[in-house]
Amino acid sequence: MAVTWLDDIRATDLETVGGKGASLGELTAAGLPVPPGFVVTAGTYRDFIEGAGIDDELFAAMDIDSEDSKALAGAQERAYELIMGTPMPEEVREEILETYRAIGGDEEAFVAVRSSATAEDLPDASFAGQQETFLNVREEALLDRVKECWASLFSQRAIYYRNQKGFPHHEVDIAVVVQQMVDAEKSGVMFTSHPSTGEPRVIIEAAWGLGEAVVSGAVSPDNYVVDRKTGEVVDVTVADKKLMHVKDEATGETVEVEVPEEKREERVLSDEEIGALVELGEQVEDHYETPQDVEWATVDGEIFMLQSRPITTISDNAVDAAASEAAANGGSEQAQGSGDVLLRGLGASPGIVSGSVRIVTKLDQLDKVAEGDVIVTEMTMPDMVPAMKRAAGIVTDEGGMTSHAAIVSRELGVPAVVGCGSATRELTDGQIITIDGDKGTIREGKETNDVKEREPVEDMRPKTPVKPMTATEVKVNVSIPEAAERAAATGADGVGLLRIEHMVLSLGMTPEKYIKENGERAYVDEIVEGVRTVAEEFYPRPVRVRTLDAPTDEFRQLPGGEDEPKEHNPMLGYRGIRRSLDKPDIFRHELEAFRRLFDMGYDNVEMMFPLVNDAEEIYRVKELMRSAGVDPEKRDWGVMIETPASALGIRNLAEAGIDFASFGTNDLTQYTLAVDRNNENVADRFDELHPAVLELIGSTIETCRELGVKTSICGQAGSKPKMVRFLVDEGVTSISANIDAVRDVQHEVKRVEQKLILDSVR
Ligand code: PEP
Ligand code: MG
Repeated sequence: MAVTWLDDIRATDLETVGGKGASLGELTAAGLPVPPGFVVTAGTYRDFIEGAGIDDELFAAMDIDSEDSKALAGAQERAYELIMGTPMPEEVREEILETYRAIGGDEEAFVAVRSSATAEDLPDASFAGQQETFLNVREEALLDRVKECWASLFSQRAIYYRNQKGFPHHEVDIAVVVQQMVDAEKSGVMFTSHPSTGEPRVIIEAAWGLGEAVVSGAVSPDNYVVDRKTGEVVDVTVADKKLMHVKDEATGETVEVEVPEEKREERVLSDEEIGALVELGEQVEDHYETPQDVEWATVDGEIFMLQSRPITTISDNAVDAAASEAAANGGSEQAQGSGDVLLRGLGASPGIVSGSVRIVTKLDQLDKVAEGDVIVTEMTMPDMVPAMKRAAGIVTDEGGMTSHAAIVSRELGVPAVVGCGSATRELTDGQIITIDGDKGTIREGKETNDVKEREPVEDMRPKTPVKPMTATEVKVNVSIPEAAERAAATGADGVGLLRIEHMVLSLGMTPEKYIKENGERAYVDEIVEGVRTVAEEFYPRPVRVRTLDAPTDEFRQLPGGEDEPKEHNPMLGYRGIRRSLDKPDIFRHELEAFRRLFDMGYDNVEMMFPLVNDAEEIYRVKELMRSAGVDPEKRDWGVMIETPASALGIRNLAEAGIDFASFGTNDLTQYTLAVDRNNENVADRFDELHPAVLELIGSTIETCRELGVKTSICGQAGSKPKMVRFLVDEGVTSISANIDAVRDVQHEVKRVEQKLILDSVR
């Protein structure tokens, strides 16, 4: 048998039908309404290459120097030619086509064709090429698409990875799922428990047509909340749904059309439909014994489940509760049966990953970091970013949650543990470790299950076709222009903080030296280009660009750094706006870059000034703006609130003409509590929710509301549910979160807003 129906598949068939096939089979077996389909088994692929005798040549073609990118491309091409150029055996062709016709009745039925990697390619199954997916396939193209899925087993990335790991190519197989396309009339997503708090509330988002319109952010869906204890629909928010996606009957392509006038503000789901969805949700949660995030669609009143996965966004509190429960049971590490915990630090960027240790002590050793290695270093530097992109994970001796390593690894989506104290001394080159970027642990050896692959850009799109509409804007923080695409894909309302110093420090020398060697124009060009990348990606959504704020100890490590002052305490030293005003000739170039961006039409760019203490500084900044050709009255600009002085003096700052004030809680906390944000020895005392910090924030928001100044947060704490609740309650205008936290924050904001509305009517 070349194929197996989904009905006949169980979770234990992973080896023959791959991960995707097994999970759809399991849902089908649990009695859930999965669209009909079948799997072309892994054995069919294997018989194909062996039967045709192309296997030896195929595997021999992979014997190349994978560092040679031409050779890598050649190997991929050879595999594609061999697989596509070899006919499928007649009986296999017939079996696939016959089964296909049985799904839809004829050769016109549309199906989705998806690769489904088998277990042997673990620990990182995605390298088997499971990304390959073809939608709206009909009979004429079906067999070719199946073969293309097979060929995707030999993508350059997959070849590189297996060669790198010494994983034999002949031990990897691939299955292919063929499943009926659902032409949804309505579609959406359902969280079987609250995605941030874990409460027993089902949250359903629904829109007309196919799910894509909502995923792309083109439309905001209706939102329904159901109390699972009583079964009651406790909240209904009907959105104005202007657009929807439908399949064009002639071409099979998905097209965007306007929603007919009468359906725009109509409720998508009736109470009965909600009831049926909730019932399914409970069934699937019971089946997996954990809250699920379910994609669903309806056709002719019938509900289908397209996908179900565990909710991964339950908030800190819920996770903490789970962690202490695990600890009470004798420690989670032991319970998982993994290696011993070697070191502990702060979980700075989420994800669990295994790899080989690469101790990096000097910049010139970066080339020894290969794809899949774990960088272990005292502290990362901007020059390390290319190596950080290659790495599977990052471990540092020093630093806190707002250090360079923490910020950049979150933006790159690379798991990281920072502030481990002695990692560079206790770990050895080549040692295999598993790091957990949530719990902050480093374990010996390789974790064989639960290894998380770095999320590609597509996965940063809201995982589900929901973007909660919130009155409070939810934005995203960006530090490296390369992260712009991932950041924009979150559906955030703009960038709340674009840090310019990562851009400047990655020039590889101090700005002064760079200008001396390359000229003023080149320096301005670099800033324009970096900011433009982000402004373009988000246009017309606003992008708040902050002028340079790097402490002298970061500059000192760069060429030209010898001219920097030696400071006992750089955090309290020559940085932020005080440095800029002291060196107006350098600062002028940043303002010049803004002027050029405005001239180029990037009217979504806003200017933000760091570490301001008083209005006097603002008047001087305005003067410099004018002399650089930027009219402060015409543009949006504001300040960071990072010192108690700026919070307490907010009235004077407002009078000086700011449009917005944004809380930099990393610094505000450090300066309010006298706790060095980068010192791992006092990390437990660094509390952004300390009453004194909240008092400063709360009173500043109150004054700003009175004076018509917008408020925001762009420090790390904006990603914490508790801070989000506090700020929305106080009436903040916007919240800017880390890329990985945006979706969670959107939900949290919405929940608080709904509660505020409820409280006001009760
Ligand atoms: C802050 O201080 O909170 C902030 C966002 O700025 P940075 O982390 O770059 O100092
Ligand atoms: Mg700051």
